Amino acid sequence: MKIIESASQASAYVAERKANGQKIGLVPTLGGLHKGHQSLMYKALEENDVLIISIFLNPMQFRKKQFLEYPSDFEQDKRLAEETQVDMIFHPSVEEIFPDVKKIDDFFQYQEEKSAVRNNQHFVIEAKNKNGIDDLIRVPSCLIYRLDGTMHPWVFDGSATIVHKLFRILQPNNAYFGEKDIQQLAILTNMADNYFPELKVIGVPTLRDADNLAFSSRNVLLSAEQRQAALSVYHVLKQGENLIKQGESNAKTILTVMTETIKTQPMIKIDYIDIVDKKSLESIKQISNDIIFYVAFFIDDIRLTDTLIVQLNQK
Ligand code: AMP
Repeated sequence: MKIIESASQASAYVAERKANGQKIGLVPTLGGLHKGHQSLMYKALEENDVLIISIFLNPMQFRKKQFLEYPSDFEQDKRLAEETQVDMIFHPSVEEIFPDVKKIDDFFQYQEEKSAVRNNQHFVIEAKNKNGIDDLIRVPSCLIYRLDGTMHPWVFDGSATIVHKLFRILQPNNAYFGEKDIQQLAILTNMADNYFPELKVIGVPTLRDADNLAFSSRNVLLSAEQRQAALSVYHVLKQGENLIKQGESNAKTILTVMTETIKTQPMIKIDYIDIVDKKSLESIKQISNDIIFYVAFFIDDIRLTDTLIVQLNQK
C-alpha cells in the first residue's frame, strides 16, 4: 500500500494506472476510519481495479473546536486500510491542498462570511476567496438550503470544494459516498454531473453496528450511557417508519409523535429533524413518495446524525 502526500505525485500515480487500462475507485474520508468507511471501500474494490482512499481532515467543514478534537489516528487508519487492500492512501497536508491560506484560523473566518455569491440553480466557483481559499465551490441554493444545510451552508461549500479538488487531482472513474450523509451525496452527485461528467458518484447504504447504531468516527467519544441514548434516536426513526407502514401519511403528525418520544430521553438535544422527499430533499407535508427521515442531535457536545430511507413501494 502506497501513502502519498503530494498532489502531483498522486496525479502521476493515477495517470500511470490509467495508462495500463486500470479503473480507479475513490473513497474520500476525513479519517477516523471505521467499518462504515470500510463498506464503501469493499464496494469500490468490487467495481474497480485500483482502490484509493483519501484521508484529509478538511478545516472548511468544522468549527475550530470540533476540528481540533476530531477523533482520528493515522496509524490505526493505515492498519484498517491495509487490511482492506487499499492500494493508495492520499494523505495531503492542509498546506498542500490550500497553499494560499495563511493560517488555520482563516478557515474559521470563512465560515462567518455572510456575503457568499450563490446562484439558485448553478454551482459557482470563486477563484480566490478573501481568506486565501482557491477554487471555492458555492453550492446552489436549491441544494444547500435543505435539511440542516440551512443552518450551516459552509459545511457543504467546504465538502464540495475539497471533493472537487480531490476529483481534479485523482481523476477517479468512480467515487463512493455514504447515504448516511444524504445531503452531501446529493450535492456531490450534482457537482460531479456538472464538472466531471465521466465520473460516477455511487451512494452506499448506511452500515450499522450490531446494536443498530450507525458507525461514525465520533462514536468512540460516547460513554456506554451516551451510546444507549444515541440508540434511542434510531428507535425513534424506526417508530416514524412504523407509523408510515401503518398508514399514517401526515408528516407533521409523525414528527410530533417522534419529538414527544425523544423528549423522554433527557440526554438528547435535537438540532434538526425532518421528513423530506427522497429526490428533492424538500420538507414534505403529505407522504406519497419515497422519503427520508433525517436527524441531527447532540449528546452533551457530541453531534451525531442519522438517516433512514423509507421506500414506499416496499411497504
Ligand atoms: P467521513 O469521514 O465522516 O466524511 O465519511 C466518509 C464517507 O463515509 C462519507 O461518504 C460518509 O457518508 C461515509 N460513511 C460514514 N459513516 C458511514 C456508515 N456508517 N455507513 C456507510 N457510510 C458511511
